[in-house]
Amino acid sequence: MELNPRVAAIAPSVTLAVDAKAKALQAAGENVCGFGAGEPDFDTPEHIKEACHKALKDGKTKYAPNAGLPDLLAAIADKLKNENKVAYGTDQILVSNGAKHSLFNIFMTLCREGDEVLLPAPYWVSYLEMIRMAGGVPVLVQADESQALKVTAAQLERAITPRTRLLVLNSPSNPTGAVYTEAELRALAAVAVAHDLTIISDEIYERICYDGVQPFSVASIGPEVCRRTITINGFSKPYAMTGWRLGYAAGPKAVIQAAGALQSHSTSAPNTFAMYGAVAALRGPQDCVARMVKAFDERRHYLVGRLAAMKGVTCAKPSGAFYVFPNIRSFGLDSLTFSARLLESEKVAVVPGAAFGADANIRLSYACSMENIREGMDRLERFLKKL
Ligand code: PMP
Ligand code: GLU
Repeated sequence: MELNPRVAAIAPSVTLAVDAKAKALQAAGENVCGFGAGEPDFDTPEHIKEACHKALKDGKTKYAPNAGLPDLLAAIADKLKNENKVAYGTDQILVSNGAKHSLFNIFMTLCREGDEVLLPAPYWVSYLEMIRMAGGVPVLVQADESQALKVTAAQLERAITPRTRLLVLNSPSNPTGAVYTEAELRALAAVAVAHDLTIISDEIYERICYDGVQPFSVASIGPEVCRRTITINGFSKPYAMTGWRLGYAAGPKAVIQAAGALQSHSTSAPNTFAMYGAVAALRGPQDCVARMVKAFDERRHYLVGRLAAMKGVTCAKPSGAFYVFPNIRSFGLDSLTFSARLLESEKVAVVPGAAFGADANIRLSYACSMENIREGMDRLERFLKKL
């Protein structure tokens, strides 16, 4: 059968594939140390599950309004106002089936055929394919370790052409864990303003920051930036709700309405009773988030310490998210070969940096147990000695 060429061209998600392979090996009886998917290992906090449970028992089993439950839209608007210092009306928010779906809706809504999209690299794997699916042209702006894996305003300026329309920002970053400072984000946003670009700011890891680093919402810079920014966020990472599939986009009303129309003909609103859980997540106690971040932080310290002690590996200490992105260039293998051999010989699953546009690196998620990290590091050490 002939396939739609736009779909046929899509490479499946490497992050999901690595996770699936690790789980399949595990199921086959292999003792795998998985550092693949960026998925918190914690269970969803009890009060969130209870709210969902209650909604189910109360018969909240019908379709919800396409853009999301009114209570959830209100809770998100309050959160954005209080935490992020951005005022969005409830008609400027669209709840979707995960932030991945929010991003997909937004790229489909904003990218015209041939529009160039500035994508700082290393980038999260799905942006690239989403931009292409939407007919856009990803333009990579490369950051390496010498610049803390963050792009500069000058680099963006150099990449701009008359066809540039969008800029993707993701701070804290997946896969690098880098967090842009407020000053850096202001400088990048100024380039967007000067060249009339729209910013897609994926802030899904905002709550997961370390060493006192404060996240910063691009849209809070001021009205000139806010009116050209779509803020993306979700529930998967801060509240360990990956399987609930809830995320949202907030932005100018016309964009949100158009994305809503797209959603209305593809998936409709997300799961109704799941959204009751999300209301509880936002309105309820937040100490559960702090507890998880504390655990991530302990793992981060340990993991970075172990990697630093391995000859030939260089690894910056990330300030956010739950990934480390060590450079393995000195071993002379590309990231795919390195990762495949590591999995084969030591049963350690990592994501090759090539998936994120950085072939000298590998990504390890530390959203996994300390025991897994300890054992995984022993195995990695053994593997490197054999290379
Ligand atoms: N953005 C980034 C940067 C991510 O790492 C993820 C995690 N998959 C997402 C968006 C999407 O998360 P979800 O669809 O689970 O909300
Ligand atoms: N965002 C996570 C990751 O990068 C989850 C997997 C995915 O959705 O790609 O590993």
